[in-house]
Order: sequence, then C-alpha cells, then structure tokens
Amino acid sequence: MTAPYPFATFADEFAGRRVLVTGGTRGIGAAVVRRFQLAGARVAATARSAPSQAMDGVLFIPADVGTAAGVETVAARLAADWGGLDILISNAGGVETKPGGFESLSDADWQAILDLNLMGPARLDRGFVPGMIERGSGVVIHIGSVAARLPLAANSTLVYAAAKAGLATYSKGLAKAVAPHGVRVTMISPGFIETSGAQGMIADIVRNTGASEAAARQQIVDMLGGIPVGRPGRPEEVAELVAFLASDRGAFVSGANYVLDGGTIPTV
Ligand code: NDP
Repeated sequence: MTAPYPFATFADEFAGRRVLVTGGTRGIGAAVVRRFQLAGARVAATARSAPSQAMDGVLFIPADVGTAAGVETVAARLAADWGGLDILISNAGGVETKPGGFESLSDADWQAILDLNLMGPARLDRGFVPGMIERGSGVVIHIGSVAARLPLAANSTLVYAAAKAGLATYSKGLAKAVAPHGVRVTMISPGFIETSGAQGMIADIVRNTGASEAAARQQIVDMLGGIPVGRPGRPEEVAELVAFLASDRGAFVSGANYVLDGGTIPTV
C-alpha cells in the first residue's frame, strides 16, 4: 500500500495543467508525480521500464530520454494526445558509479552520462518550450545536483558532476531567453535524497569495496562533507519545492537554482 503523502495539498491548485515528469516512476520523480496528481494536474511520466506498481491516472510513456529518439517519442506522444505541455519537470538523471580513476573513462562513458544528464533536458526543452512560448506561458524545472558545486572524485560521478554543472549554466541562460515570452525556467539541486537511485549508489560502493551498507551510506555522507540537519532528504521534500516553483505562487522566480541539501554545501 502507498504511504499517505506527508504534506497538505490543495486539490485544484494545478487543475487543467498538463505536466510531464521524466523519470517519474521512482524516487524524486514518483513523489513529484504524486504531488501534481494530488493538486489536480494531468500528469504524464516517462521511464525506460514500466512502473512496478500501477500509477493510476498517469499517462505512462516508455522512453529513454538519454537518446534523441526517446525524447522524440515523448514529444510526439504528448503533442498528439495533449497538444503540448504547461509544466515540464526534467528529473531523469543519475550515474552508475564504477571503480577506477578519471583516466579509465572512455569517450562512450562520457557521452552516455552527458546524454542523460545534460542533452536529455536540452532536447526535451527543444521539444516543448517552443509551444510554451507560442502560448505565452509555461514552466520548466531542471533537477540538478549539489555535485555540480561539490564534485566527487570517483570517475563516473565526476562526469555526472560536470554534466549537472553544464545543466545549471544552460538553465540560467535558457531562463533569460524565454522569460520575456512568459516561460519560467528554474532548477533544483538536491543533496543526498533517500531514493532508489541513492540505494543503487550505496549498492555500487558495497559491491566495489566490500563495505557494509551502513558504512557505504556513511561514506557518501562523509564524501559530501556531512549533512548538518542530520539526515538525508525525502523525495517529497523535493516535490514540495517543485510544486511551489511550478505554481503561480512562484510566478516571480526565474533563472534561480535552489540548493536543497540539509545544509551540505558549506559556503554561500
Ligand atoms: P532514481 O534512480 O531513484 O529514479 C530514476 C528515475 O528516472 C526512474 O524512474 C528511472 O526509471 C528513470 N530513468 C533513469 N534513466 C532514464 C532514462 N535514460 N530515460 C528515462 N527515464 C530514466 O533517481 P533519483 O530520484 O535519485 O534522482 C532523480 C534526479 O535527482 C536525477 O536527476 C538525479 O541526478 C537527481 N539527484 C538525486 C540525488 C539523490 O540523492 N537521490 C542527489 C542529487 C541529484 P527507469 O530506470 O525505468 O528508466
């Protein structure tokens, strides 16, 4: 049984809005899907594999948004079924951690990480933002990472950090370009959030180093330099900020990048 959503919501806050959440089947994306559904939106979700539990009322589009063809599939389907989008949440992202140093990564390794974490959001924006500009309104939220400012040294996570840093710069520039046309682009950069993705990273460390699960988890916290609030974040805590930024309450926010990390980033 699904646990109750932990925060209050307004049933019609997003009534009539068409929302796409990439990577909407697990972790942060699943919480965001739920948040919008509870507030009356029409919600579509994409992922490579079907969700393990039925997502009632959600339009699920199987697609790999790390490829141009996958993004085209999503854009074509939503153009045909909904005639466009009001809110785009580019959340799909991540990296598989591998042992080894920076020199062990091939061009193909780099390309795959850039394709998912940087090119995916850029391609989705090319697919949906022109329609938003035409209608004079829309919201795009890119999910980044504190890794852009706190890059970890392990090989693939370093590339991931570079991709998310590129996404942050791109988001800022795109926001400037489209704000005069009624489209707001913002970004959220989470710290350590308890999701299936984070569990995967813990499992990678256990497999690669032989550490226990608790030690691997602590290793991630230590690598980040600690979490002052004393715990990782919850997916719903990211979903709440997404909802605020996507709503009319966030109408004056454009080009901002919100760090949501329990205090992890040590500087201003
Ligand atoms: P999870 O790994 O828990 O979930 C990822 C979701 O994205 C799944 O629905 C997955 O489904 C989907 N997905 C993955 N790759 C693709 C792809 N190529 N095409 C389409 N869908 C895809 O991720 P999180 O919730 O942990 O992370 C969400 C976002 O937050 C990511 O951008 C991540 O970089 C960022 N983030 C997360 C942090 C954390 O601590 N969890 C910290 C900082 C940033 P499927 O596998 O079926 O495709």
